[in-house]
Amino acid sequence: MNKILIQSVIHQRPVYQQSGRWFVLDEEFKWNLSTLQKDVFACLNKAFHIPIIFCDSCEANKIVSALGEEEAEYLQFASGVYWREVGIIFIFKFDDYLPLIETIFHELRHYIQDHIPYYQKEFELDKKRPYEERTTEQDAFAFAAYYLAKFTRQNSHAIPS
Ligand SMILES: [Zn+2]
Repeated sequence: MNKILIQSVIHQRPVYQQSGRWFVLDEEFKWNLSTLQKDVFACLNKAFHIPIIFCDSCEANKIVSALGEEEAEYLQFASGVYWREVGIIFIFKFDDYLPLIETIFHELRHYIQDHIPYYQKEFELDKKRPYEERTTEQDAFAFAAYYLAKFTRQNSHAIPS
């Protein structure tokens, strides 16, 4: 998806915090975004360029719709989603710090999977599998658990409550 188009759709809304390509569109987001981003990338030893937007699922649908893609109805109970068609990660739940970090790792892993041929194949097969049996989900949960444990060790003095 066109970067300039994404930027312009995002900036039609109030942006409460921005750090690189991460955007907070919800005024109730209480964390320092640039610290969060720095700590997540440090834990992964890599910076990712995919946009991450912190907002509610209703806003995510409006953004995706403004980008010319179809809205989704299943988002209501999700913590986050990697929206392939537009190349954006949306995070919907951010009240608690460690679950937030875990969700970011999980959705980033789905983005990483998109660039791994094995998971591209599994992604197609997963469409016919129930959620808990999906290879891409099991892998994303394992990835997030691994990096959350690493994150907790590395940031034990600095994790806000
Ligand atoms: Zn997932």
